[in-house]
Amino acid sequence: MTDATTGGRIATRIAAIPPSATLAITAKAKALRAAGEPVVVFGAGEPDFATPDHIVEAAVAAARDPQNHRYTPAAGLPELREAVAAKTLRDSGYDASADRVLISNGGKHAISNAFNALIDPGDEVLLPAPYWTTYPEPVRFAGGVVVELPTTAADGFKVTVDQLEAARTPRTKVLVFVSPSNPTGVVYAPDEVIAIGRWAAEHGIWVLTDEIYEHLTYGDHVFTSIATAVPELGDKVVIVNGVAKTYAMTGWRVGWMIGPADVTKAAANLQSHQTSNVANVSQRAALAAVSGPLDAVAEMRTAFERRGRRMVELLRAIDGVEVLDPQGAFYAFPSFERVLGRTIAGRTVATTLDLAAVILDEVKVAIVPGEAFAAPGYARLSTALGDDDLEEGVTRIAELLGAG
Ligand code: PMP
Repeated sequence: MTDATTGGRIATRIAAIPPSATLAITAKAKALRAAGEPVVVFGAGEPDFATPDHIVEAAVAAARDPQNHRYTPAAGLPELREAVAAKTLRDSGYDASADRVLISNGGKHAISNAFNALIDPGDEVLLPAPYWTTYPEPVRFAGGVVVELPTTAADGFKVTVDQLEAARTPRTKVLVFVSPSNPTGVVYAPDEVIAIGRWAAEHGIWVLTDEIYEHLTYGDHVFTSIATAVPELGDKVVIVNGVAKTYAMTGWRVGWMIGPADVTKAAANLQSHQTSNVANVSQRAALAAVSGPLDAVAEMRTAFERRGRRMVELLRAIDGVEVLDPQGAFYAFPSFERVLGRTIAGRTVATTLDLAAVILDEVKVAIVPGEAFAAPGYARLSTALGDDDLEEGVTRIAELLGAG
């Protein structure tokens, strides 16, 4: 069947996929900047730091080695799969053999592979909202049903076991668990992680845990891997992770899933027909990253924490804006609900979509409206940009909103 709205040209399944809102806003802002506009971009979820030298050097050496000019096993270089297993034991205390690791083109691809391997048409996936814009698409593409579980700033943006239980049906197959979270930056406390994991285990529900921000937590907040904290999950847990955030390697495109052997094998079979191996030079760089030190992430963490605190301070000084303290990842997720309904620069701002457009047009600052994360009324501002830009960008927003 094809889609009537595209005149039958584009397949229905594909026509239903919207572009990534976060990438779209970042692209628009970067285009404005290229045209000479002084744009401040709070859009992208990527560290502003360069990839550490020892990782880049490993890639340069790899590019010169002809063995990397050839196809390699689709599931990943054996030494990288081993190193990811070792890194996971080191950082999360989760013990998995290398054959359970599938190396993919970024965490995004790992998520897509995992859902494709698990979801049959009609299977339900519990997705606490606000959620990162990419999760629903591969679920729907596989014919699954996304069940959104709304949370608000008042609940600390955390889903509860009661909420999960109320949403559970005989078709519930997977719970998506993300802590630290994109877009809210929220980190679940260990007892909350355990309660949620035990609930899933009790009902035989799979958990897909996205641990890509594991090293970015602030203050008293600590990362807890649900896979390790709840051994009762047994073989119904899939970990997604990657080098993008920890080592400032968003452009290298290396991520992975760690699942039970049968799921990993099934996903690897799929990948073997879709993309084959991830570029060997990138895999060699990732190998240097995961088997090397964590000093670079410690430095970035300090910078993100400082910027997060400053951003929250600046945002709270704006009349009508509320925001939680930074807990993890590198995002602030303020509520602009009390700003909506105002007239700003002669335009009525009814939604955060309108607000983001006015802010970009009037003061050349790009923020991502909460609509991109199923959270209208909020917006996401990345703290992964330079201190001066951050100060300048939020000040411009404050002046615009203050001007009425
Ligand atoms: N998971 C989360 C929660 C993310 O925020 C991102 C990046 N925005 C990813 C996964 C994927 O990152 P990548 O594909 O660059 O590895």
